[in-house]
Amino acid sequence: MRAVVIGAGASGLMCAALLARGGADVTVIERNSKAGKKLFITGKGRCNLTNDCDVSEWLASTVNGAKFLYSAAHAFPPSAVKDYFESIGLRLKTERGKRVFPCSDKSSDVIKALVRDCERGGVKFLFDKRVTAIETDGGRAVGVRAGQELYFADAVVVATGGVTYPSTGSTGDGCAFARSLDLKVVDPKPSLVPLRTNGTGSLGGLALKNVRFDVEIGGKVVASEFGEMQFERGAVTGSIVLTCSALTCKYRDKNGLFPGGSKGIVDFKPALDEATLDARLLREFSSAPTAKLKVVAQKLLPSAAVSAVLECARADGEKRASDVDKATRRRIVAALKNFDFSVVGAEGAEQAIVTSGGVATGELDPKTMQCKKVGGLYFVGEVIDVDSLTGGFNLQNAWATAASAARAICEKRG
Ligand SMILES: Cc1cc2nc3c(=O)[nH]c(=O)nc-3n(C[C@H](O)[C@H](O)[C@H](O)COP(=O)(O)OP(=O)(O)OC[C@H]3O[C@@H](n4cnc5c(N)ncnc54)[C@H](O)[C@@H]3O)c2cc1C
Repeated sequence: MRAVVIGAGASGLMCAALLARGGADVTVIERNSKAGKKLFITGKGRCNLTNDCDVSEWLASTVNGAKFLYSAAHAFPPSAVKDYFESIGLRLKTERGKRVFPCSDKSSDVIKALVRDCERGGVKFLFDKRVTAIETDGGRAVGVRAGQELYFADAVVVATGGVTYPSTGSTGDGCAFARSLDLKVVDPKPSLVPLRTNGTGSLGGLALKNVRFDVEIGGKVVASEFGEMQFERGAVTGSIVLTCSALTCKYRDKNGLFPGGSKGIVDFKPALDEATLDARLLREFSSAPTAKLKVVAQKLLPSAAVSAVLECARADGEKRASDVDKATRRRIVAALKNFDFSVVGAEGAEQAIVTSGGVATGELDPKTMQCKKVGGLYFVGEVIDVDSLTGGFNLQNAWATAASAARAICEKRG
């Protein structure tokens, strides 16, 4: 069994290593000069390689394609991924939110371990070669073309990734191959990405914890998350914003824009209802009656947020606390609970962690990742229309789909 794997990223390396273990003669073709360029930057250089949860939690964190993943997920769950990495000498640790990292905190150790495992199995790597087409004959994939060169194979695995962080080599070639073979492709869109805002310029640098962030589109809240977020120049980001970006992908047009009038809403005090917050304000005002409102407000808010919130409440920060009337206090409460601003769309692929969209899952056999219309052709990893939230789930998708394809190809050989 000769197999060609296109791409030496997460899914390509895993697939190649497992194919070699199964006795296949494997060649990996990678356009970059080394393996795992995107893996290297994952988890801020620490690589959150999976999530130590059960399959149902993983699938519940999957935004698109959970049903498709079902078989692959059960065949190669997070526990199997951990066992695999530990078996190839990578020590792991689990952090907050069941996120699994290498003990060394170095993504490079994940890449080294995978490459070593591939090399042990005799996998050949061809670097600095970009595959330009899949060669087919009589409805079967028979190899790949890289410029003038042809590489023949019994099985071709497309592990070319999505369209995000294109500088890492993932520029959507796999989707182009699929389209050239008349396979349906769901338009790739950046996901897990900062959201662009209007009118938040003064808040650049503001970091918030324990807040609620809602995205409202067409007058309806379509995503709502609790946790940490940050304001940047003309954008919001942070874990809860990234999650909201994934949950609102379908509302964006092909330019990444939301319909006009879409809003981001921050609740600075999600644990307090309006009446309790009003009572708290009253207490703060009566304990410092001569202090300026803008100073008292710092008891409830990070100082960088004070003037924007008071402006939103149409409250004069220079006023003494004892002079703030009931109507103004109510407006301050409303601004603390519903601080809203315009959300225009998402940042581009250069800033997105994952791609939403890709080769339509209906084109693939979910047990084997083999293309239903083209025998011997497999798609694995982010090139498939499957994406999950942060927490190690996207790499888990890559490992599991790669393992399914490797197993299926090796079984054919048997
Ligand atoms: C900044 C950042 C941080 C992230 N952190 C995490 C994290 O901590 N945990 C997590 O679970 N997920 C994380 N992700 C997502 C995760 O990295 C991806 O989902 C995962 O790498 C996808 O694996 P893949 O094998 O499908 O694609 P990739 O890892 O993108 O690999 C694709 C490979 O194919 C090669 N290639 C493409 N086209 C061709 C061609 N025509 N010919 C030859 N080679 C080609 C590319 O050069 C690349 O090496 C992060 C993503 C980013 C951008």
